[in-house]
Amino acid sequence: MGQLWQQVVQLAHELGFDACGVADVDLKGAREPLLAWLSDGFHGDMSYMERHAALRLEPAELVPGTVRVLTFRANYLPADTAANWRDASFAALDDATSPVISWYARGRDYHKVMRARLQSLARRIEAIAGPLGFRVFTDSAPVLEVELAARSGLGWRGKHTLALSRDAGSMFFLGEIFVNLPFPVTPPQSEHCGRCTRCIDVCPTQAIVAPYRVDARRCISYLTIEHQGAIPVEFRRAIGNRIYGCDDCQLICPWNKFAKRAVIADFASRDIEAQSLVELFAWSEEEFRVRTAGSAIARIGHARWLRNIAIALGNALAAHSAADHAVARALKARSDHANAMVREHVGWALAQAHAFAS
Ligand code: SF4
Ligand code: SF4
Repeated sequence: MGQLWQQVVQLAHELGFDACGVADVDLKGAREPLLAWLSDGFHGDMSYMERHAALRLEPAELVPGTVRVLTFRANYLPADTAANWRDASFAALDDATSPVISWYARGRDYHKVMRARLQSLARRIEAIAGPLGFRVFTDSAPVLEVELAARSGLGWRGKHTLALSRDAGSMFFLGEIFVNLPFPVTPPQSEHCGRCTRCIDVCPTQAIVAPYRVDARRCISYLTIEHQGAIPVEFRRAIGNRIYGCDDCQLICPWNKFAKRAVIADFASRDIEAQSLVELFAWSEEEFRVRTAGSAIARIGHARWLRNIAIALGNALAAHSAADHAVARALKARSDHANAMVREHVGWALAQAHAFAS
């Protein structure tokens, strides 16, 4: 089985995965923290987290016959990412009329990319080893991805709760293949957060309420991507110009000095963030559909896209930039939008100019 694993490692690299490991399926140790997080309501309206809690702890129940979980890591920073990307990303947060989009979402939707490659890998394993019981997952509700990644040596769980590695930071996607073959388990990495609290301190909304505990209801990534309804007013100023996700806790992390560029060409940026907020806000529903097709951004739909940009435009008005006139005009053009949530956010945004003046 050890020799087969060596072949899997080789195949995984050929398919663009940067690291891989093997976890066993005994996740009892993860039970208490998961249940405490859920009972605190930190998952917000991600009710699927609660629904799948039992399955998340029992991979063999989720996919009968599973005895191991093969874990994979794929770096996602686009190949042409500049050396000073972390400083440049922080500087972009001060450019009030330009959008900031999370690094992971700038290329093709990773769900599609990772899933296709994991399927391909599983088929290749089958070609070597014979019939294989398997199922692939990536960012899927019933799977404790970070826990499995940490157990199998792909990294450790950072205080921001993401998987983190000494040789690649945290700018990578995770994926899994549940299998019915007893591959040899790979050992975990040691943890290297030490006394550092930078991710906790930098978080704009104090969403990391304690080391290793994120209250999703406060997290800008959750609010701008997963959350369906109106964004609570108390977080709108802190959102700044982040229109899809937030990377701050990763940007500040010293281990991301070692973040690697993607070898998978699908993760090249589509440069949506190169356009101004006003330009993005003017996209019709059809333009949104066409321009975001195949990207993770498409998942939030046009109304939530407008909701997020309206907040950023309101914050631009509050910052009193030279573009105020164009920003206000763009907002007013949407003030009778058919969607009540969009209208409310536009109203809030327009009021920011007055809030600043008063
Ligand atoms: S993604 Fe942003 S808002 Fe969420 S925990 Fe990290 S720094 Fe805080
Ligand atoms: S910023 Fe510091 S505490 Fe947070 S994940 Fe990185 S090393 Fe750990």
